[in-house]
Amino acid sequence: MGRTIIVSNRLPVTANEEGVGFVPSVGGLATGLASVHASGEGRWVGWPGIAAEALRGKEGTVRRNLAGLNCVPVFLSSRDVRDYYGGFSNRTIWPLFHYFTQHATYNRDHWAAYRRVNERFAAATAEIAEPGDTVWVQDYHLMLVPALVRARLPAVRIGFFLHIPFPSYEVFRLLPWRKEILEGLLGADLVGFHTHDYVGHFLDAVHAILGRGHAAGDVEGGERPVRAEAFPMGIDYDRFRRAAEAPAVRREVGRIRRHVGDRKVILSVDRLDYTKGVLERLEAFDLFLTENPSWRERVTLVLLLVPSRTRVEEYRDLKRRIDERVGRINGRHGSVGWVPIGYLYRSVPFERLVALYRAADVALVTPLRDGMNLVAKEYVACQVDGDGVLVLSEFAGAAQELGEALLVNPNDVPGMARAIGEALEMPRRERAERMRRMAEWVAGHTVEEWAADFLAELAARRPPDRAPQPLGGDGVGRLDAQYAAAEARLLFLDYDGTLVPFAAIPGGAKPDRELRGLLARLAEDPRNEVVIVSGRDRDTLTAWLGDLDLALVAEHGAWVRERGGAWRATVARDGAWKARVRPLLDRYVRRTPGAFVEEKSFSLAWHYRRAEPYASQLRAPELRAALRDLAAELDLHVLEGDHVLEVKAGQFHKGLAAARWWERGWGFVLAAGDDRTDEDLFASLPRGAWTIKVGGGPSRAAYRLPGPREVRALLARLARQR
Ligand code: UDP
Repeated sequence: MGRTIIVSNRLPVTANEEGVGFVPSVGGLATGLASVHASGEGRWVGWPGIAAEALRGKEGTVRRNLAGLNCVPVFLSSRDVRDYYGGFSNRTIWPLFHYFTQHATYNRDHWAAYRRVNERFAAATAEIAEPGDTVWVQDYHLMLVPALVRARLPAVRIGFFLHIPFPSYEVFRLLPWRKEILEGLLGADLVGFHTHDYVGHFLDAVHAILGRGHAAGDVEGGERPVRAEAFPMGIDYDRFRRAAEAPAVRREVGRIRRHVGDRKVILSVDRLDYTKGVLERLEAFDLFLTENPSWRERVTLVLLLVPSRTRVEEYRDLKRRIDERVGRINGRHGSVGWVPIGYLYRSVPFERLVALYRAADVALVTPLRDGMNLVAKEYVACQVDGDGVLVLSEFAGAAQELGEALLVNPNDVPGMARAIGEALEMPRRERAERMRRMAEWVAGHTVEEWAADFLAELAARRPPDRAPQPLGGDGVGRLDAQYAAAEARLLFLDYDGTLVPFAAIPGGAKPDRELRGLLARLAEDPRNEVVIVSGRDRDTLTAWLGDLDLALVAEHGAWVRERGGAWRATVARDGAWKARVRPLLDRYVRRTPGAFVEEKSFSLAWHYRRAEPYASQLRAPELRAALRDLAAELDLHVLEGDHVLEVKAGQFHKGLAAARWWERGWGFVLAAGDDRTDEDLFASLPRGAWTIKVGGGPSRAAYRLPGPREVRALLARLARQR
């Protein structure tokens, strides 16, 4: 069992200007991961919380001191902090993922900084990680890190957890760098979220943007299986429970109680952030007092706001508006002996926070969006008397676990005002019963268990299958040498996706001059036999490549044209089945904008590359199911290619077509292809053949190249050898 390396924006400790002392940073995450970090040989990679300029010349000391705590620093300049953290993380991702699209900025410099800093985190991680280790990347600041670490260390287990919501596809797609972010996350083996909604949103986005579907949370079509799963984060229940029962906290609760007399206390605790719905909450309290004059002088709202991101304009603006609204409410409803809202704008020490939780009759937790919301769970944990009512926004992740809370829609101000009344007047027995159930849940789902669950699931992920290895370095050298030495060489090349990138319509992928020249040069060498093995029809291949000295295989092996020969069918021709299948495909074309049918002599292909992702997500499996009975009845085969379903009759595939070349002996055999139909070819080749999968996805090929550009580079190198 290897070590666990945690990677997060902040280390659990903060360096000071001397670079020697460290203050532990507190917070749910630090506590939750502390147990992981403390056990065994773990490491924690992160920013020590102070700009690199202030530590100049002391980096070595900081590094050494942190090493004693098993921490590895990533030094960030104040510019990095401004653009990557304050910029892309907090002014692009944070607002967008919380549905505040109006606050999201799309700044290219911020994005560049985000990429640069993510690279640095990945490099620092790769430097200490070894095969067998587990890397666990935390949160929205580091979404590119999983893929960046994967590129350096293909064999380590990588997990990622997002602590904020993952928004619905319609919001996520606004991001100019949506593809890069998803690809970054899919570098992980396991991607965790707080709720199933977020998991669903993520899988939708992966499907719509990357064209990769999923089966029960397992993302399909990559080089490795990637799983998305919900792990709702908990709190350190015992720590809050113990504190709430401690004598000092009891005394503090007594003081608060004496101060408010027999007034009821409603508590509201947040970081000052526009996602928290503070203005709407105040409006609801205002409305409650207006509509329920009998409650005047009998209730106090304690509004604790912890300063946050105070340099950002939106936050300063919000602060002004909250100040103003608090003043207005106190002015309108207050009296000489009663201030409706007790307003604290600061952070309070742990014991005092716990005392406030315990003293409060009602907690008002009404964010407009919140990934989880720990305050709600902390409040529950602190109700050691089993009393107290939680009013909770349905847009907090916690609402999915704390169903016994009074759930409110934070945009519905009258509804919230009613919930405040209901909470204040709830009978004791009901209060106790609801609180008991919630406390049970919170006690049984602590942050330690959350971390343990995540890591157990990650550990259970299968080690990567025998996946194709990137073709580079050593492999290239051996390939070139074998090619040079061989007297007879056979090259099978798929066309679309292998020699040319995909075009939106089949006619768009015509060979360019460079490609034709390249193929001509390869074919010229008398030692070479070059075979284009394509799913395309004969006419297209003839028109595009017929004048070159190549062998051609059309329609996935249904037709073969040997060098200098004529086209010959490999199977008997009977097109009667088409009359039955064509209408079904046509119907699915009418129902799926962007889809179309291509008719070939032995097959019919339903293409959906240009179809809208949501539509094809529904239609492709539907059509596949609809074809099943017909295929059984007429003895047809349904092939799934890249964004195409192809129906064919009779037994032919690329592998069978290739067999006719085995009569001769070859000193060098190479096959390159990108989709499932090429797997038949790979499977049919003799041992020792160079099989190359082009692009992502599982394959039985031994090697992998990223795309047509790299395939062409390889062929160009061979052509130069002569
Ligand atoms: N908190 C704090 N100091 C305070 C008040 C609150 O550290 O003066 C803590 C609180 O205990 C909770 C965290 O801040 O753990 C807020 O977490 P939450 O998930 O509710 O919201 P976030 O700030 O992460 O958006």
